Amino acid sequence: MKSRFWILGMAGALWLLGAAPVQAKRQDPRVEEYLDQVKARREEEKRQERKARRQDQNRRLRPYLTLEEMDAELDRIAAGHPGLVSVEEIGKSREGRPLKVVRFSTGSQGKAEMLYLGNIHAQELAGGMVCLAIIRHLAEGRGKDCYVDYLLEKADLYVAPVQNPDRMASAARKQARYGLTGFIRKNADQVDLNRNFPYPPEAPERLKASAGSHRKCSTSFRGPEPLSEPETRDLIAFIDRHHFAAVHSFHTSGGMIMFPPGTFPEPTPDDELFRQMAQGYQDLQFDPYRVHPEIDLYPTIGALDDYLYHHYGILATTVELGKRSQLLHRLTIFWMYNVYELDREIANNLLPALSLAEWATKVHENPELLKWQPPAERWVGEPELGPSGAPAEKAARSSEGLGSGTGTCPVRDR
Ligand SMILES: [Zn+2]
Repeated sequence: MKSRFWILGMAGALWLLGAAPVQAKRQDPRVEEYLDQVKARREEEKRQERKARRQDQNRRLRPYLTLEEMDAELDRIAAGHPGLVSVEEIGKSREGRPLKVVRFSTGSQGKAEMLYLGNIHAQELAGGMVCLAIIRHLAEGRGKDCYVDYLLEKADLYVAPVQNPDRMASAARKQARYGLTGFIRKNADQVDLNRNFPYPPEAPERLKASAGSHRKCSTSFRGPEPLSEPETRDLIAFIDRHHFAAVHSFHTSGGMIMFPPGTFPEPTPDDELFRQMAQGYQDLQFDPYRVHPEIDLYPTIGALDDYLYHHYGILATTVELGKRSQLLHRLTIFWMYNVYELDREIANNLLPALSLAEWATKVHENPELLKWQPPAERWVGEPELGPSGAPAEKAARSSEGLGSGTGTCPVRDR
């Protein structure tokens, strides 16, 4: 009997202890009124978000944009920042869509040049969205962010968010309408654009299909010959008119920072420099990716980075966005290739990607840092694009800037 009173007494004391602070809070009418207002405001915001989502006909695609939305956003940003941002068309895709590059330049000549590329594989919209984040950051940061001002003072930056607009448009449309897409990687000619660049004559004929295939049905079909596609030809012609010291491509997925070689295992003469760049990228990530040469993922024939490094001595790097563990919605192909938490992925890559422009500047100002001297020998499918040379040599002969159309590139006259 005595112990039962003891238990009841303890329970009562605990109840009083737990309830007392709540009662104390509730006793202040100003706090109570304020918390009610906060709650009502949050509920109203959620209601508006649900309403906007219901009315958004592309809600199944979010947070990604359709091609039309991406184009409109690029035009809006350029219109809002005249004198800094311009959108240029460097060619047209197989189905006649414009191939757009956004240029950031403060006007002065002779600066380093850096190029960011996204979405060469149609379903990999995440790369295009990280490119768009770079564009927004540079445009909005000018005059407010000292790091942005520093980069724009040192270099002209170019960003091409969508390199495969025909099939990107189709992947985005299918996802927006049905919430489902097939495996959409290649261009409208069924060519894997990132296997359509020139390659070394001694490249093996037979490798894994992912390296690049001669069969049209393969997901990595190389096309009838290197640069057979307008998207790849126009990109190389554009690069040839400039003196890019570094080019960085965004793909998905896997969480990797990669650099040449992609075809053969021997490290390049600039392996140490590439590793420093990749390590610097990784050091700036809060969720670090793995660092390794491209061949460690799988060998490739006709991929962009090897060709840019071989022919121009460009420090060409690639990031595979999104670690597998972050891919929450892996039930459909679209979400296998596009990170769901896009804001997080952008935050993990934005400053690291911008830091690559510092390397472009360093190599532009100190060309002796680059050990590779592009040779006279040609790779299979290499076009007549004027004399090859190290970036510093090219800088002297190509300061016309974007859209000048004065390059010596016959491939533009297709
Ligand atoms: Zn890809």
